[in-house]
Amino acid sequence: MTQPVNPSPTDFIRDIIDEGLRENKHEGRVATRFPPEPNGYIHIGHAKSVCLNFGIAAQYQGTCNLRLDDTDPLGESMEYVQSIIRDVRWLGFDWGDRLFYASDYFEKLYAFAVELIKTGNAYVCSLSADEMRESRGTFTEAGKESPYRDRSVQENLDLFTRMRQGEFADGAHTLRAKIDMASPNIVMRDPVLYRIKREPHYRTGDQWVIYPMYDFAHCLSDALEGITHSICTLEFENNRPLYDWIVEKLVEKNRPRQIEFARLNLSYTVLSKRRLIELVKKNYVQGWDDPRMPTVTGMRRRGYTPEAIRNFCAEIGVAKNDNLIDVSLLEHCVREDLNEKATRVMCVLHPLKVVIDNYPEGRTEHFEIQNHPQRPELGSRQVPFSRVLYIERDDFMEDPPKKYHRLGPGREVRLRNAYVIKYESMIKNEAGEVVELHCTYDPTTQNGPPADGRKVQGVIHWVSAQDAVTAEVRLYDRLFTIQDPGGEEEFLQHLNPGSLEILSTGYAEASLKDTVPGSQYQFERLGYFCVDLDTQPGKPVFNRVVALRDSWARIAGGK
Ligand code: ATP
Ligand code: MG
Repeated sequence: MTQPVNPSPTDFIRDIIDEGLRENKHEGRVATRFPPEPNGYIHIGHAKSVCLNFGIAAQYQGTCNLRLDDTDPLGESMEYVQSIIRDVRWLGFDWGDRLFYASDYFEKLYAFAVELIKTGNAYVCSLSADEMRESRGTFTEAGKESPYRDRSVQENLDLFTRMRQGEFADGAHTLRAKIDMASPNIVMRDPVLYRIKREPHYRTGDQWVIYPMYDFAHCLSDALEGITHSICTLEFENNRPLYDWIVEKLVEKNRPRQIEFARLNLSYTVLSKRRLIELVKKNYVQGWDDPRMPTVTGMRRRGYTPEAIRNFCAEIGVAKNDNLIDVSLLEHCVREDLNEKATRVMCVLHPLKVVIDNYPEGRTEHFEIQNHPQRPELGSRQVPFSRVLYIERDDFMEDPPKKYHRLGPGREVRLRNAYVIKYESMIKNEAGEVVELHCTYDPTTQNGPPADGRKVQGVIHWVSAQDAVTAEVRLYDRLFTIQDPGGEEEFLQHLNPGSLEILSTGYAEASLKDTVPGSQYQFERLGYFCVDLDTQPGKPVFNRVVALRDSWARIAGGK
């Protein structure tokens, strides 16, 4: 059976939480949040963050909020919000009634900004973006103070109010924190807190023409929600002093604490939203739910299970240093989970017709076949057998090598769950390709080996031609051919041209006729497959979830 995810893992974040609890910080509460920006669909990297935040809340009997971090209107939309809600739920997590939108805090954030102005900690700056960049300094050189830094509180309040009222053009003024232009940390050199941006917001419409910056909005949203541990990825490490500075100036008690962990990087995969958007918008894939996408919706359509994704996230754990996780680990987790759950069936992808000459015409037998060899509770089904069958093209060779234990001239093979058959003759087309085999069957072999004790080593799968269901089968493979496409600006040059192969005439056994989207199967000897959304009644479409074995490991040859 699949191992349940360890309910009480340990890592450096949990160590920090434990230590805080011992010191009774935050009155013994643990409150986390998952804060996606609704400017794209969430992916396997976000799933890591989801599992971490919700997992910690569950482990410490705390809470985890789902917060849409929607303070930058550009590119945000309700479609993305809905997808995020659906995907986090599908991953198996529940936020109860704690669904929040940072955009609901705009008025409160504005009030916080006013307070910073009143205490002399923020000022309206009228430098242009270019001028501001020039005066910021470098890693080795201090920045220059803005000539507007010493505006009076009164003047700042007046200008900030008028910024809100829409009196100024975009970019004419910003609100900046008054910290330290000589700080060795560039983030602390009077960072911008608010900017003017005439961009309609998907929730607040054109109510606002000024929007708070991430660094200002995020920590205060955490504080407003009573978050204790604000877990984020490493790229925010340099922003932590600013997080703390803002919170110290504006929040009296129970201040949230930011903790950074290494984001997930996955081999043969890109996880940057910008790049995923590019793949979708430029039609390199067929949408956010294309089964080759590392998005949660893509993985769901592909046939990955929430359990497999959660197991993967538990397996990789959390660390403080960036690294690249091998995508074969994810595929392994999917295989493990489906091995437990998937019904075994037979489907022929590249059909070759076989006629059993000594099997009576018009006769059909039904064999009862277990749905799962190790799990009798999953029941059984009747599979028809008749005179004309399909087998897999590469289960026959005209001139096979010695070690080939399948069908060839003079050879015998067992049809899985059915009889032993023997090759008799073949028919070729004008091009010289084998199009039909003639065989004979041994009627004594349905329930056991041949009576005369002769050995038949190979076992192949098959379907009865008259009962077969014609299926479209989509063979998916990795989207990129190189290990770290995310590290390449020209990542599109490394798309795998063979990432999708469509087989229009697979033949599936009769039991798959009315299968429904989302059902998962093991096609014996071939891999795990999932019924796609494009399926019509009587016309199934299957996606290959993952092959039975990791073929890339062999190709890479331990590189
Ligand atoms: P961007 O900043 O480009 O919009 P993002 O990937 O950071 O994209 P967010 O919506 O800000 O997207 O992310 C929501 C949460 O998920 C954040 O806490 C972020 O740190 C986390 N997250 C995003 N990508 C990963 C990843 N690859 N691994 C782990 N956590 C991630
Ligand atoms: Mg982000």
